[in-house]
Amino acid sequence: MERYRIEPGSDFRLSNLDPGERLSFDGKKALGNEYLEELTGRLRTLQELLYAQGRHRVLVVLQAMDTGGKDGVIRHVFRSVNPQGVKVASFKAPSSLELAHDYLWRIHRETPARGEIRIFNRSHYEDVLVVRVRNLVAPEVWERRYDHIRDFERMLADEGTIILKFFLHISKDEQARRLQARLDDPEKHWKFSPADLEERKLWDDYQEAFQVALTRTSTPWAPWYAIPANSKWYRNLVVARVLVETLERLEMRFPESSLDLEGIRVE
Ligand code: ATP
Ligand code: MG
Repeated sequence: MERYRIEPGSDFRLSNLDPGERLSFDGKKALGNEYLEELTGRLRTLQELLYAQGRHRVLVVLQAMDTGGKDGVIRHVFRSVNPQGVKVASFKAPSSLELAHDYLWRIHRETPARGEIRIFNRSHYEDVLVVRVRNLVAPEVWERRYDHIRDFERMLADEGTIILKFFLHISKDEQARRLQARLDDPEKHWKFSPADLEERKLWDDYQEAFQVALTRTSTPWAPWYAIPANSKWYRNLVVARVLVETLERLEMRFPESSLDLEGIRVE
């Protein structure tokens, strides 16, 4: 999984990552899904430990182009976990109240508490993505934000938050297929927004904005993973595996009782 991790200071190029890559799982969808099943089972235990221990906080950031699969990851990778300990925060275009504050204000209040997993469906990265591409603020304003974001995430990490960031990388052709599918299927019409077509016209600008964001804000304390996402099942598999491996490294144990429970019998 290290393969998809963006090392700080590396010469990572998004354009060199094949969104259709499936490595040894190529042509093995059934096997991939079996493995995902195993991983989601492990994730369920890990989340229970996390919740029981109440020590670590876990933040999962999901970013992608439209139709990139953020919703799919939330639905499939987290399907086995206890909803009590996992929350999703979705960030849309900011409200006037949110705009009246600094851009991290609405973000910070949604960060995870101890024992909790928080999934960000879009995030503060929008403030260097759509904001940059659409010129919503002046360049000198968004230019400073990469450093703010690194520092903000550093603070969260120092205070005990484990941060994992995933960019779900689809190709432009794959996006066309997915948008068309939304138009062709009445049950998917609700997902379609004409604004998605406008954003699609800016595809190259977005890729460049992602390239800069991923390389400038992938840090030892909050790494980015760029995930090939044309195959939904492969995408889910990779995200699940990174999560499971990261949480397993914490070597969590169920807390021991401070009481002497030996010999207590419930009548
Ligand atoms: P998604 O597209 O994430 O699946 P959705 O379709 O339910 O979600 P949208 O109404 O498309 O929701 O809301 C997301 C939109 O909000 C995106 O176009 C995104 O670029 C925009 N957005 C998010 N954060 C910001 C921000 N900080 N500034 C401006 N626009 C933002
Ligand atoms: Mg949308």
